[in-house]
Amino acid sequence: MVFWNKREKAEEKKEDDHHALTTDIQNNHDAFGREAENTDILTELNTDQVLDVVIIGAGWAGISAAATLKKKGIENFQVLEAKGYIGGRSFTHHEHWEGQDVPCDLGSMWIQNAKGNLLNEYIKKYKIPTHVSKYNTRIYEENGKGPMDDKKYNKLEEELYEKGFYNCQAARQQLAWMRGDEPLSKSRDLYLAKLKKKPLKQKLAKVLIRDSIELEYSGSLEELSLEHWNTDSWIGGSNSHDHFVMTGYSSLFYAYAKDEGLMDKIVTNAPISSINSTSNLVKLTLKDQRSITAKRVIVTAPLGVLQANAIEFIPALPKSHSKAIQRLGMGKMNKVFMFWKSEDVFWPMPTTSKIEVLGDVTDRDSTFLFYNSLSFHEEKPALYAFFKGPQVEQIELEFGTTDPEMYEEKITELAMECLQSMFGKDAVPPPEKVVVTGWLADEYTRGAYSFNKVGMKSKDREVLTFPIADGRIHFAGEATHEKYFATTTGAFLSGRNAAKKVVKKL
Ligand SMILES: Cc1cc2nc3c(=O)[nH]c(=O)nc-3n(C[C@H](O)[C@H](O)[C@H](O)COP(=O)(O)OP(=O)(O)OC[C@H]3O[C@@H](n4cnc5c(N)ncnc54)[C@H](O)[C@@H]3O)c2cc1C
Repeated sequence: MVFWNKREKAEEKKEDDHHALTTDIQNNHDAFGREAENTDILTELNTDQVLDVVIIGAGWAGISAAATLKKKGIENFQVLEAKGYIGGRSFTHHEHWEGQDVPCDLGSMWIQNAKGNLLNEYIKKYKIPTHVSKYNTRIYEENGKGPMDDKKYNKLEEELYEKGFYNCQAARQQLAWMRGDEPLSKSRDLYLAKLKKKPLKQKLAKVLIRDSIELEYSGSLEELSLEHWNTDSWIGGSNSHDHFVMTGYSSLFYAYAKDEGLMDKIVTNAPISSINSTSNLVKLTLKDQRSITAKRVIVTAPLGVLQANAIEFIPALPKSHSKAIQRLGMGKMNKVFMFWKSEDVFWPMPTTSKIEVLGDVTDRDSTFLFYNSLSFHEEKPALYAFFKGPQVEQIELEFGTTDPEMYEEKITELAMECLQSMFGKDAVPPPEKVVVTGWLADEYTRGAYSFNKVGMKSKDREVLTFPIADGRIHFAGEATHEKYFATTTGAFLSGRNAAKKVVKKL
C-alpha cells in the first residue's frame, strides 16, 4: 500500500497536476456517487434454479469476476453482497458541507502508481477527475512549538528513513533470508539504538518509521515480516504518482459496474453464513436461512472474515488453506474526516503552501497523519486523518460496534489532542462535523487490508488461489494477490483470474 510514500519522488514524470472538473463529470459524479445510497436491492435472490456461479462479495474482486464471466458468455450467475451497498472497501460517503458535496472515501482513496495501473484506464474511460498526490509533508514539533523547517525536515527524512533505516533493514533482511524471519521492529530497534546520542533525530526516526510503514501496510512493526518485507510490487513501476479520485472511488466503482452491465446481477443484504459442498452442487445458506445452489462459487470475503471463521465451510477448509489464512496478517487502520467552518481554518492554506500531509514528532502510542483537503478539494475545509495504534484499536474494539457515538467522541478527542499539540491549544476549535471509519469492527471486513505477517510462508497468498472441493469453490480478493495485495488493483486482478479458472471448468 502506498499512502505516504516519499520513495516516489525518485523520478517525477510530467503528469497533469489537476485534471479539470467539468460540469459533465460533476453530473456523472452525482449520479454515480449518490446512487450508492439508493441501492438496497439491486436484484432479488434467485432461489428457484441452480446457478452456474455465485460470487460472494461485491467489492472490486467480486465485480471484476462478474464482468469476466459476462464477457465469456456466462449469464446464469449472481453476486451476493452482505451489505446494503456495493463497493466493499471502496466506498464514498457524501458529506454536505457549506453548500457543497464533499466525497469522503472511507476505504480506498488513491489509484496507486496511476501510470500503468489498470484501474487508471477506467478512470480515463469514464473521465473521472483526479489529483496527482505529491505528499508534500510538514512535520510539527510537540506542544505548539511549531513546524520544523520544511527543507530541514526533507533532508532529515532522507537521512534517517530513506537511507538510515532502509539500509539497516536491507542488511538485516539478508540475514532473515538465511536464518529465518523476524519482525521489522528488530531492525527499527537496532537503528534507533545507533541514534541514542542524538535524541531529536532518534525521536524523528521513530515517528518516520512508524508513520511510513505502519500506516502504509496497516500492520504494526511488531507483526510485519522482515523476510517478506517489500515483496509486493509497484503497480506500473516505481516512478509514477498516486492519483486521488476527486469524486470518490464509488464514482469509479459504479461507472464500471454499470458499464459492464452488472447492476441486475447483484443482490445486496445477502450475507452468506455457510457453504456446503458435500454434494455435487454447492449449497449456500444465508443468515436468514434462505438458500441458493450453484455449480461453482467464488468467495471474495475479506481475509479478516475468513480468519474469524465467519463463513462456515462444510466440509471444513483443507489445512493448506486454513493455515495460509491464519498466517497472513489483516491490518488495522482507520480514517477520521474532520470539518471546520471556512473562517476557522487553522492549518496551511493552499495559497501559501502546497502542503498535503501534516504530522508531528511525538511519543504518543497512536499515530494520526492528516491530509490537508484544501490542497486537493479546494474550498472544502476539512482534514482527513489516517490513524493507527494500540490505544485506538482498543477503543474500536470496545465501542466500534456497541456505541458508535462514544467511538467517534474518543477518536475525535485523540485527534484533537494531536492537532492542539501541533498548532497550539487555543488555535484549534472543536470540529463542526466528524466522520470516523471502523473497519475492524465491521463484521463483513474485520480489518483494513492484508499484510505480510512475520512467520508467513512465501506461497501463502498463492495457495489461496488454488480451488477446493474438486474445483467447485474458488477464492479471490486483495489478500489472494501475490504482487498487488492490499490494493484495489490486486483485488480486481484476483477476481478476474478466479473467474477465468471457473469458466474453464464449467
Ligand atoms: C482505510 C483504507 C484505505 C485504503 N486505501 C487504498 C488506496 O488508497 N488505494 C488502493 O488501491 N487500495 C486501498 N485500500 C485497499 C482496498 O480498498 C482493498 O484492497 C480493496 O477494495 C479490496 O477489494 P476486495 O474485493 O478484495 O474486498 P472488499 O472490497 O472488502 O469486498 C468484499 C465484499 O465481501 C462482502 N462480504 C463479506 N462477508 C460476506 C458474506 N458472509 N456474505 C456476502 N458478502 C460478504 C463485504 O461486505 C464486501 O463488500 C484501502 C483500504 C482501506 C480499508
